Amino acid sequence: MSIEQRPRRCGGWLERLIQHARVRSPWLLHFDCGSCNGCDIEVLACLTPLYDVERFGIVNVGNPLHADLLLVTGTVNRRNARVLANLYRQMAAPKKVVAIGACGLSGGIFREADNVIGGIDRIIPVDCYVPGCPPRPEAIIDGVMRVLERFGTGHPKEDVAKGKGIP
Ligand code: SF4
Repeated sequence: MSIEQRPRRCGGWLERLIQHARVRSPWLLHFDCGSCNGCDIEVLACLTPLYDVERFGIVNVGNPLHADLLLVTGTVNRRNARVLANLYRQMAAPKKVVAIGACGLSGGIFREADNVIGGIDRIIPVDCYVPGCPPRPEAIIDGVMRVLERFGTGHPKEDVAKGKGIP
């Protein structure tokens, strides 16, 4: 084996190890984009001992630089679109986004309001949509687990290329 081949082989092995660790213990950032707090209460319920997402190794963090997953509730409006885009930009690739609730999917009951742009995917790419008003904690956990499966199968570089409509 030539010297040029060594870093590439090591990189592939290391990438797989990091990806495995990410699936087993993803760090999650929750952002309330403009919800009525109904969805946020259900997201917080996932962290309580009753639903206990930490049993899947999921840790709630407050810093986008540390997060693998972004959970967004509520509508995007003209004021918070830039904040949402900034949070997404700060997250290191590969990263995944879960849109939660009717508001996060389409603007929900607020979609006709003057200042509302619509769902999360109008600003950042979304990997999983969890419908409901609000969705139950079981549905939110299911959405997160589906996204984690995609972490395990996709190549990290696929996620780097994503990103559209960011203001
Ligand atoms: S989907 Fe329903 S519960 Fe969730 S933020 Fe919108 S109005 Fe509130």
